[in-house]
Amino acid sequence: MQFHDAHCHLPINYFYKDIDNFMKQWLDLGLEYVVGVSMKYTEIEKAIELQKKYKQIIPGFGIHPWKVKRNMPEEQINKISYHVATVSPLVFGEIGLDHHFIKKEQYYPLQEEVFRFFLNLSEQNSIPINVHSKGAEEKVYDLIDSFSIPPSNILIHWYSGPKKILYKFRDKGVFFSINPSILGGSTHRFVLEEVELEQLLTESDGNVKYWIKGERIIGSPAIIPQIMEKIAEVKNLSIDEVSEVLSRNFKEFVNIS
Ligand SMILES: [Zn+2]
Repeated sequence: MQFHDAHCHLPINYFYKDIDNFMKQWLDLGLEYVVGVSMKYTEIEKAIELQKKYKQIIPGFGIHPWKVKRNMPEEQINKISYHVATVSPLVFGEIGLDHHFIKKEQYYPLQEEVFRFFLNLSEQNSIPINVHSKGAEEKVYDLIDSFSIPPSNILIHWYSGPKKILYKFRDKGVFFSINPSILGGSTHRFVLEEVELEQLLTESDGNVKYWIKGERIIGSPAIIPQIMEKIAEVKNLSIDEVSEVLSRNFKEFVNIS
């Protein structure tokens, strides 16, 4: 059974330094593709290196809203634009806004500026986006909606915001990635209940740690088969049907056949 991970922090040292061992294990389990998202510029370069080693790794270019404390330096903007022209396939992530964990409001306009930078690049180059929206869901919706980005190029990662905004995103036709937190019971579960399989992907957000049935689990692509079992259970489908649709969804999202 094949599976994908649409959001894993592969450029962090935990994975990066031991990537050969990890990839061997994940490929043996059936991993088809993993998006290695970045949080800051140095990680973007590492994500590109990883893709050169493994074609199953799709680099995510992003500056995470937690890391936005100043304007992007001109040099970074130029380098990112250069890489966008030379790297394929490619995703923008992790990008977005965070008004929940980041309490200092003086950073919010900066977050928006960096997010707009990537949304603009996405619009210009038809590159899919992998979006963080914690505590700023409505603002994220409005910003994305102000650009011409096709819904199939939009992924809302680990959504846990208000239902009203979930429905707006759902009705726009975007993808949502289902996160391991559903295995332990969480507000994220309503995404799985309210959104059709045709708009779902799976993600680990590795190496985030999860408490699942009293056990502490480190997120990585190895946990995705368990998420697929849960999806099959909730949607009342066989695991093979789930695998087939999710694989098709993922390829549509990253624009590969
Ligand atoms: Zn993440």
